[in-house]
Amino acid sequence: MVRTSQEIIDQTQEFGAKNYHPLPVVVAKAEGVWVEDPEGNRYMDMLSAYSAVNQGHRHPKIIEALKEQADRVTLTSRAFHNDQLGPWYEKICKLTNKELALPMNTGAEAVETAVKAARRWAYDVKGVEENKAEIIACEGNFHGRTMTAVSLTSDEDNKRGFGPMLPGIKVIPYGDIEALKAAINENTAGFLFEPIQGEAGIVMPPEGFLKEAYDVCKENNVLYIADEIQAGLARTGKMFACDWENVTPDMHILGKALGGGVFPISCVVANKDILGVFNPGSHGSTFGGNPLACAVSIASLEVLEEEKLADRSLELGNYMKEELQSIDNPKIKEVRGKGLFIGVELTEAARPYCEELKERGLLCKETHENVIRFAPPLIIDKEDLDWAISHIKEVLKG
Ligand code: PLP
Repeated sequence: MVRTSQEIIDQTQEFGAKNYHPLPVVVAKAEGVWVEDPEGNRYMDMLSAYSAVNQGHRHPKIIEALKEQADRVTLTSRAFHNDQLGPWYEKICKLTNKELALPMNTGAEAVETAVKAARRWAYDVKGVEENKAEIIACEGNFHGRTMTAVSLTSDEDNKRGFGPMLPGIKVIPYGDIEALKAAINENTAGFLFEPIQGEAGIVMPPEGFLKEAYDVCKENNVLYIADEIQAGLARTGKMFACDWENVTPDMHILGKALGGGVFPISCVVANKDILGVFNPGSHGSTFGGNPLACAVSIASLEVLEEEKLADRSLELGNYMKEELQSIDNPKIKEVRGKGLFIGVELTEAARPYCEELKERGLLCKETHENVIRFAPPLIIDKEDLDWAISHIKEVLKG
């Protein structure tokens, strides 16, 4: 029985918790940069599932890895070894130039892992007094929806009704090096930040901040922890957004495109002095490191490398940004971003623009009321991008 978009939306509204406010479009099929609704209308995906689909929808190589693995074994739990986890460990460690990795499933779980690792590192390695460890986070951050992530956020709406919050967290203005220096004390375990804040509306710290913060962390024996779940894995025109200032974090937190938009997998990577704090029983997940996710992830990382998607993102992103910056409309406050990770900040609500773009066959989502985020799959070609740009220009000209 083929059901209409409206029937599916009504069913979703009737039975689903209202924790999202999606655009009224139902995706029933997808390939590359294009998605299709049950009525056969085609749309270009300009969001890429918040950067989880960097490799494009249903990339053939990733789907092949999924099918091949699904025909052999999908889940063992970590009570046994599986034959995909070792190769995946080696792949992600070599890509990040780190000694150890710890796989989880969702981004928020990887953030939990990083916070646990940093706290235990503070007690076992740094010598912080028991239960005194502190994490410094940034205003405007988005690290997920678990209690730890909610405790880290400065967004009161995201916290409302969920207290009490996790203690041991300090929040400083994003990109403020003096505030970072002032917040650090002998109990500071780590500084957790996004190199570019995606959910805050593609907000970038001042040039030089990533390196300066790194130096401050090193001087004070504080872990420098980069949440690259959304900005990492080629999205900003470099494999990792921290590469823009040539810094290698003590801990990378990765997710989203790590599973190519096909299967959830996230992870934390770090050296032995940090991730070595975990012993059997101190952390884990039934599905974390499952063979299906690992096989998909290896293929997803190979696609990023083989198709040079970071270079492509940089080249096409620079082009798109220039084109959008040329639009003459006083309602556009700023066009900013790196690679194909572009935010257009308006002086008014962004949602009506997203709705108009949807009518023209372009799917994008407002973030923080006034910003439209453009983040197409990185496999997009110039012709499709030009098609998108021409519609965006017409809509944004007003
Ligand atoms: N961290 C960042 C920077 C994110 O953008 C997100 C999701 O948008 C998360 C963490 C949470 O990831 P997940 O939704 O997979 O839990």
